[in-house]
Amino acid sequence: MRIGVDVGGTKIEVAALDAAGRVALRRRAPTPPDYAGVIATVAALVEGAERDLGARGTVGVGIPGSLSPETGRVRGANSTWLNGGRLDADLAAALGREVRLSNDANCLALSEAADGAAAGLSHVFAVILGTGVGAGVIVHGRLLEGRNRIAGEWGHNPLPWMTEAEFPGPACWCGQRGCIETFLSGPALAADADGPGARDAAGLPARRDEAARAALARHADRLARALAHVINILDPEAIVLGGGLSNMAHLYEALPRLIPRHVFSDAVRTRVLRAAHGDSSGVLGAARLWP
Ligand SMILES: [Zn+2]
Repeated sequence: MRIGVDVGGTKIEVAALDAAGRVALRRRAPTPPDYAGVIATVAALVEGAERDLGARGTVGVGIPGSLSPETGRVRGANSTWLNGGRLDADLAAALGREVRLSNDANCLALSEAADGAAAGLSHVFAVILGTGVGAGVIVHGRLLEGRNRIAGEWGHNPLPWMTEAEFPGPACWCGQRGCIETFLSGPALAADADGPGARDAAGLPARRDEAARAALARHADRLARALAHVINILDPEAIVLGGGLSNMAHLYEALPRLIPRHVFSDAVRTRVLRAAHGDSSGVLGAARLWP
C-alpha cells in the first residue's frame, strides 16, 4: 500500500493506493497554523488510515515549497510556518519509517503524467494555480527534481513581457517584485477584480460585470505570456493546469489563442489540459513518490 499526503495551506489530505493503484481510502483535516500541529495531524491521518485498512504503507508527502539540499529544511513554502522545519526527519520520527517529500506541483506532475490528463506523454509542464503558483516538470516520463530541487519554480520568475502599467509589479512574500505568482494566484486575481483584500476568485467567471470581465481577461493574457516563456525554453508536449483556478473553463479556449503571440515558432501545437484528477492530483502524486 502507498499512502500519499498533501499538506496544503488550508487542508491536509491523505489517500491510500492499493497494489493496483486504486484509491482505497481518502480523508482530510484542516491545516493547523503551526509546525507541531502539522506533524501531529499528518501522523494521525496516516495512522488512522492504516488502522482502518489493516495494512502498513509507504508514505509520500507533497508540500508547498521544497527541502533545501543545503540545510535539509523546508524553504519557499507560502504556508510560511513550514519553513525552517526538518519536515522529512520529523515525520519519519513520528511515523517510524522513511518518508519521501516533494513539492506539491511535482506531485501534480507525477500524478497527471502517470494516469491523468498527460498520461502517456514524455514531456509535461504541470502548473498549480491556487493560493500560490508553481509547476513541476516531467522529462522523458520522469520527474525532474533539479540540481537545487527547484525545477519548475517559475512562479517566482518575473511576469514576462511586462507592460508599463504592470511594471514593476506587486511586492512578493519571497522578497522580489512582479513575480508571476503575484499576478496569477487566486488572491491576485480576486484583488485585481475587487480591490486589495478580496480573496474569492472562483466566483468571477459567473459574473457579468466589467470589473470581473476585465480582470479575467488580464489574467488569461498574463498566464499566456508566462506559459509562452516556458514553451520557448522547455517546449513540452502538454501543459497541465491544476489548482483552484484550473476550474475556470475559459482558460482552455483563451490560452491556445493567446499563447502563440509570444512563442518563437510559426505554429504552436502544445496542448493545454485541465488536470484530470482535479483537487486530488497532489495527494495521488505524493503516493507515487514511492514506486
Ligand atoms: Zn516571489
